[in-house]
Amino acid sequence: MKSVYFDNNATTRVDPRVVEAMLPFFTEQFGNPSSMHGFGANVGSALNRARGELQSLLGAEHDHEIVFTSGGTEGDNAAILSTLEANPRRREIITSAVEHPAVLSLCTWLEKNKGISVHLIPVDSKGRLDLDAYEAALSDRVAIVSIMWANNETGTIFPVAGLADKAKAVGALFHTDAVQAVGKIPIDLKSTAIDMLSLSGHKLHAPKGIGALYVRRGVRFRPQIKGGHQERGRRAGTENTPAIVALGKAAVLATRYLAEENTRVRALRDRLEKGLIQRIGNSFVTGDPDNRLPNTANVAFEYIEGEGILLLLNKEGIAASSGSACTSGSLEPSHVLRAMNIPYTAAHGAIRFSLSRESTDDEVDHVL
Ligand code: PLP
Repeated sequence: MKSVYFDNNATTRVDPRVVEAMLPFFTEQFGNPSSMHGFGANVGSALNRARGELQSLLGAEHDHEIVFTSGGTEGDNAAILSTLEANPRRREIITSAVEHPAVLSLCTWLEKNKGISVHLIPVDSKGRLDLDAYEAALSDRVAIVSIMWANNETGTIFPVAGLADKAKAVGALFHTDAVQAVGKIPIDLKSTAIDMLSLSGHKLHAPKGIGALYVRRGVRFRPQIKGGHQERGRRAGTENTPAIVALGKAAVLATRYLAEENTRVRALRDRLEKGLIQRIGNSFVTGDPDNRLPNTANVAFEYIEGEGILLLLNKEGIAASSGSACTSGSLEPSHVLRAMNIPYTAAHGAIRFSLSRESTDDEVDHVL
């Protein structure tokens, strides 16, 4: 049976060129980059090369603004916790109602256990941030604004550069969870006021368990993992060298494929959406029609239950994902679709198809 993987926002296949680049770092190049001898030095220069590769993908000013992490969740946690620690007098956070749990559940925890006030900025029915509510929440009590660059479920892109300018005006730091944006849309950090950005390797054809946090030069940073002096004292622990080399290679490839992502992949996604809506009554695309990731289609099929659709798709060899999560026996639609006020009858049947540079015309035909 033909199989079609349209769940690339969940994770991507590691690119074979990425696997090839990382393999020597398990065997010949096994040294510890902190060692003084040649085994270490070779690996150390590979890490620096990877840092430079990330720097160019993000358009960062300096390669030492890149801190390697274990992934998106760690980057999100480190950015927020570090900022609260470095600015103890500011006790408020601004974030959106549609963030990933890596940000949202940390904020809930901080509110409950540390007395931090959290402003959850709402979105409209297309998933666009309520800019008036954002401006109203900004003040000199806010330590950090953390707003995602693009939403993982609908692909809606947020105007982070403009939001960062506004945060700067009240002296708050601006962090963006760019886990879904990196490699899909152009990013040039040096032309923005963004202070910190989190990314994750496994969303851009690198392995799971590796990521990076961009920390703009001059930002006061407090390490959340304490120990040795790795990563200039910002993240202790012997570096995951094969995975870092892999992330560097994935960054080079992502830069190379960025144009294709926004032309060929976008056209495939558009054809899939149009075809689905034409064929199936009572269905519609969710998210911002004007500002959306090129690979993501979130389609709501009204009066049908999402898990059922996924099981039947799976029988046909098609992998997608649902906007609802089965929690404690009751099917709750995702917090993202609920925040958008999508009616329950539609939110329950929302399916996310997420394509990648590996997706083909044949696959779209098969799904349609
Ligand atoms: N943030 C967003 C928007 C995501 O989509 C994900 C992964 O699904 C994460 C954070 C978490 O990243 P990781 O799996 O690398 O911890």
